[in-house]
Amino acid sequence: MSILIIKNANIITLDPHNTKAKSLLVRNGIIEKIWNKTEPERTEVPDGPDIEILDLKGAALLPGFIDTHSHLLMYGQMLNYVDCRSPRNKNIGDIKGEIAARAGKAKPGAWIMGWGYDDTLLEDKRHPNRSDLDQAAPDNPVFIRHISGHFGAANSKALELAGIDESTSNPHGGYFTRDDNGRLDGVIHEIPALEFIFPVLPSPSSDEQIKNIGNAAKVYLSQGITTCTDAGVGLDRGIEELNAHIAAINSGKNPMNMRLMILHHLLREGSAFSGYTADQLDLELKRRTKNRASLDSAKLFQDGSIQGLTGALRKPYHCDESVYGELLHDQNKFAEEMLDLHKRGFRIAIHGNGDRAIGSILEAFDYVLSKSPMEDHRHRIEHVQTAGSEDLDAMQRLGVAASFFINHVYYWGDRHRRIFLGEKRAARINPLADAVDRNLLFTLHSDCPITPISPLFSIWAAVNRITLEGEVLGDDQKIDVLEALKAMTSYGAALNFEEDSAGTIEEGKRGDFVVLEADPLTCPAMELKDIPILATIISGKVVWENTEKAYIHS
Ligand SMILES: [Zn+2]
Repeated sequence: MSILIIKNANIITLDPHNTKAKSLLVRNGIIEKIWNKTEPERTEVPDGPDIEILDLKGAALLPGFIDTHSHLLMYGQMLNYVDCRSPRNKNIGDIKGEIAARAGKAKPGAWIMGWGYDDTLLEDKRHPNRSDLDQAAPDNPVFIRHISGHFGAANSKALELAGIDESTSNPHGGYFTRDDNGRLDGVIHEIPALEFIFPVLPSPSSDEQIKNIGNAAKVYLSQGITTCTDAGVGLDRGIEELNAHIAAINSGKNPMNMRLMILHHLLREGSAFSGYTADQLDLELKRRTKNRASLDSAKLFQDGSIQGLTGALRKPYHCDESVYGELLHDQNKFAEEMLDLHKRGFRIAIHGNGDRAIGSILEAFDYVLSKSPMEDHRHRIEHVQTAGSEDLDAMQRLGVAASFFINHVYYWGDRHRRIFLGEKRAARINPLADAVDRNLLFTLHSDCPITPISPLFSIWAAVNRITLEGEVLGDDQKIDVLEALKAMTSYGAALNFEEDSAGTIEEGKRGDFVVLEADPLTCPAMELKDIPILATIISGKVVWENTEKAYIHS
């Protein structure tokens, strides 16, 4: 038996009445009692050797943050790669310098991997290409991935190892850029084309993968996250990624409650989980992790990224009248695959950034639900960046939930306004207020490593809608702090089918908490993202503590 008593806290329960409290008791991981007094009487506390008492000295205690869409495994791996992000790198020359420095320390022939470059933030306003990377590392294969994950650039050695040459034809939904003479410039667009290079990229050993996930999990815990969904298990290396997650959980290096979205191709005929029902796969995950991980959904994509001009829009891109972006799947095949997954019991999560992709996804959900009606399916759309009013109406009618990539407003808002979407469409990306009006189930995400993991930052972005250049983007789509906090906690629990066991501080729920130095409901809205996180608690155990503050252990 283990008992945790938290006293002298500003407990923000986020229950339906937004009740406040001051102390509580967690027994064996479950909240047993909540009091509205600074600490319980002696007679109310059970006797026993295994009691931990935390005195929060007035700090805020909230339900642990629920991250419903990020890429923990990918992030862990990227912590080892050459950091090609901007503003750290102002131009391609800077990236070449970073790669050359890494190559200088590597053996000839060893892979140099990089991530995070953003052509629209580089002074050169283009992707680094094959000859840039050849110059930086002539003796090593080099592959660097775009910040969106939807593009990459390879040097000559890497293209050769992948067997990509001038005779390689472009796959459906992706392409290799070529110059006027048909020569490849090394830039690879979209996942179907990236799949040509994935098989030859170095795969970390199982021990390295466990270590990587552990390092990433530490960062997540330091941001107050207690439940995490990896939104693309199998994206780059198939079933191996699932095994790595399971090993990291069982090693104790990742103590978060994990939910796994499994890439749809692993569920197809002839694949690892062909013929599985959702229940069978969920049971298998729970059995292999002692209930630490469960199945979240089957994951599909229907377009790419707006900033890469591959998000499928109804009207052309602001910067190029001839470009609309592409749907990745033929509508009929897409709808049939979804129907199959739906009938096998899978909750379906589909990536859709552009409004045309969102429309296509909703058309397919409409088809699926007309063929096989189901109450409370909680099917979901990921990112939902440019959903129009008619799309949100359809989501409401069909009961489809939204997982919004709210950090886009800050990181890409200025460029959406000037380059990709123009003023009017940019102002209503991530239409949160419209989602609230329609009572949609919605959550907020960072899509880490696409943007840094920080639930408080996502809450700040939803409340203030400030861009990198300090402008307000779409004032009428702001939501209030309480709503944003719920989107990161109780709505996340609902999206995870866990509203009875997580997401609020109520008796009978899991003892998952984040301790914040200030009360987010009363602090100035612009300071939300900077509130120091003091501790993260999962099932009544402190799993991360801010040692700089050394606050809670008295
Ligand atoms: Zn994602």
